[in-house]
Amino acid sequence: MSVNAQQHTLKHCIRATGVGLHTGKQVNLLLRPGTPDSGIVFKRSDLDYKFSVKAHAMNVGNTTMATSLTDGRNELSTIEHLMAAFAGLGIDNAEVEVDAAELPIMDGSAAPFVFLIQSAGIVAQNAPKMFLVMREPVRVGNESAYAELQPYDGFTLKYTLDYDHPVFALHDHTAEVDFCTTAFIKEISRARTFGFLADYEKLKDLNLAQGGSLDNAVVVDDSRILNEEGLRVRDEFAKHKLLDALGDLYLLGFSLLGRFHGYRSGHSINNALLRKVLANPSSFDVICYESDCAVPPAYQRKITTLV
Ligand SMILES: [Zn+2]
Repeated sequence: MSVNAQQHTLKHCIRATGVGLHTGKQVNLLLRPGTPDSGIVFKRSDLDYKFSVKAHAMNVGNTTMATSLTDGRNELSTIEHLMAAFAGLGIDNAEVEVDAAELPIMDGSAAPFVFLIQSAGIVAQNAPKMFLVMREPVRVGNESAYAELQPYDGFTLKYTLDYDHPVFALHDHTAEVDFCTTAFIKEISRARTFGFLADYEKLKDLNLAQGGSLDNAVVVDDSRILNEEGLRVRDEFAKHKLLDALGDLYLLGFSLLGRFHGYRSGHSINNALLRKVLANPSSFDVICYESDCAVPPAYQRKITTLV
């Protein structure tokens, strides 16, 4: 990841249509440029009031199978793949509007969102970019599943899967990327979500995953991958978990300088990790490379200006 000292947003608005994973219904998505220091803001146009929630760890609601934002009345689910695309492309400010309670699942990866953002164009803004720099290790979870962030002069993610399953025994359990040397678009963005056929059938019975198909997930039965084309990359399972973590970590509201390691962690543990970081001010600093940073009030004491 290159340290670019300016904030970025989209050059133009862009629209897309897809299917909601849970409802199976069409979802219309609109991405708009955002003003400097506004962050990523999610809106719903299908409610009889203005649902508008900033993408931030403290606004996360349900984390079962996906990350949702809540305004206390309603939620907007499955934001993590689009958030990963914003993080990977260095987009600081944008408005996201949908007419449903979930983002469209697209192909189950972040690649269609990357394509959309690149098609809209990316522009630098006249405002300094801010970074959250880890100063002390923070860890949540236990021996069976945990996530941790450690100080590191750069940004690396590592994820370790551990499923007692014949398909997973054949594929890499660990994926690790250093954003100094790894291209997000090529290596991470195309990794699709995955699930087990048995779980999928249970979810369908519960009226969930109505939009799930082999077009938007890698599906595994007791012994094999059901998608005819197989995996896109050998470590696609672990890479997708990295993609999820990248999207979840971007809910810190800043680009991150640190080292993440997840062991069997999911959206819930990822969010618990961010809340623990934010609750421990000694664990991080916020830095920028200009003298006139518009630091949110909660971080005023934390700012270090590196001019
Ligand atoms: Zn995912």
